[in-house]
Amino acid sequence: MEKILTKKSFPAWIKKLQSYTVYSPEKQENLWSYEVIQNPDKLNLEHLNTVLAPKKIIYPQREIFLQFNTSKEGKPQIKEVLPEEHPAVIFGVRPCDAKAITLTDKVFGEEPKDPYYWSRRNQTILVGLTCNPPPSPNCFCLSVGGSPHSKEGLDILMTDMGDKYHIDSLTKKGEKLIKAAENLFKPASSKDKKELEKIQRESEKKIKREVKDIKNIPDKLKDMFESPFWDEEAMSCIRCGICTYLCPTCFCFDITDELTSTLPLKGKRVRTWDTCQFPDFTMHSSGHNPRPDKASRLRQRMLHKFQYHVENYQDYLCTGCGRCISLCPMGIDIIEILNKVIDHE
Ligand code: SF4
Ligand code: SF4
Repeated sequence: MEKILTKKSFPAWIKKLQSYTVYSPEKQENLWSYEVIQNPDKLNLEHLNTVLAPKKIIYPQREIFLQFNTSKEGKPQIKEVLPEEHPAVIFGVRPCDAKAITLTDKVFGEEPKDPYYWSRRNQTILVGLTCNPPPSPNCFCLSVGGSPHSKEGLDILMTDMGDKYHIDSLTKKGEKLIKAAENLFKPASSKDKKELEKIQRESEKKIKREVKDIKNIPDKLKDMFESPFWDEEAMSCIRCGICTYLCPTCFCFDITDELTSTLPLKGKRVRTWDTCQFPDFTMHSSGHNPRPDKASRLRQRMLHKFQYHVENYQDYLCTGCGRCISLCPMGIDIIEILNKVIDHE
């Protein structure tokens, strides 16, 4: 269902969505972040890449799994804490970040399914925005099977057409959202559709960075496990973990028990994001660490994204958002590494 919505009418649409928690990118000082919309009249969809992808809404950085304590009689008591059921809509989702959610869906959808992830995921509607221009100079979605106007994972794709938006409703969830304010939308004309195609073609030309010969990367990586290449590439890494914490496709986590009292025993079990770039990530209780240095950890990041995930799920664990390049404090650039892998003898 293709519709047109004037920019003037956009706040009125948001105001009709009171039964949802509505998120959109918000500029905080110089950085963009997905936040709950407080004032629909101030909505701005001209955002650059948000620091954290909308993944943080479906799979938060920290969440409580269960609470435990001992009763007066000394018996252990455990209470599961499932997320509150509340429908949400996220506006302004970049196509690469929506694709990333389809990748985490597959991982958290393996049996046994993750009830914490799915209770939020099932209730979240993703409203995307065509990237024109791209939100980062380091975008390379075209190299990893995406595009600035990809619909994958989205319920609606919006495209900025000057004083109006082209609205492409892609799922039942998306149609429901439009029906909430049907009178605000007009059908898209054939002229609108032609203009849309032109915008989409132009948006692709604006993606300047690329990985060459990416199809051969998984095989090249297989042969480079023992290569000194990884020592050289990881030399400047300060193991801050930014590249993985900010990645929309990374899903690793740790589970810890936090005690709030020892007598009586009281506490909670908490899941927090973790990263393969930290030395403790693979530390065994024996003291042995199979990935003891920066080189083996960088190699793990690259092989997981471009070899192991391809073998297991037939897709790269990277959607080309460019965050790990733009935000690495040491300028380590995943595109440069991949292009060097291709040239590696
Ligand atoms: S962001 Fe850069 S410096 Fe930090 S862990 Fe990743 S590669 Fe290393
Ligand atoms: S690996 Fe880097 S470019 Fe790829 S999705 Fe993650 S943060 Fe984005």
